[in-house]
Amino acid sequence: MRTGKIIEIKCKCGFLLFRYFKAGKGRLIKLMISRLSEDNVGLKGLPTFSRPACPACQKELGIIMMIHGEAALKLNQGSIVGIRI
Ligand SMILES: [Zn+2]
Repeated sequence: MRTGKIIEIKCKCGFLLFRYFKAGKGRLIKLMISRLSEDNVGLKGLPTFSRPACPACQKELGIIMMIHGEAALKLNQGSIVGIRI
């Protein structure tokens, strides 16, 4: 069992986008959608290569990709507040 913790991911505009179970340490590059504990954008069910946007300011957040057979959001690092763990 790997360790991790729930982190909050916010847009640069301050909107709380997600709560996410982050395993291990290090920079957050992608979100596995199945590990979101709160999804204020509505990623679940989006097709691959969708480009979801912040509901508050419409900034593009990244792109939905399949990683190891699982849907994930590859984050646009310029759109989110930096996360320190
Ligand atoms: Zn925003």
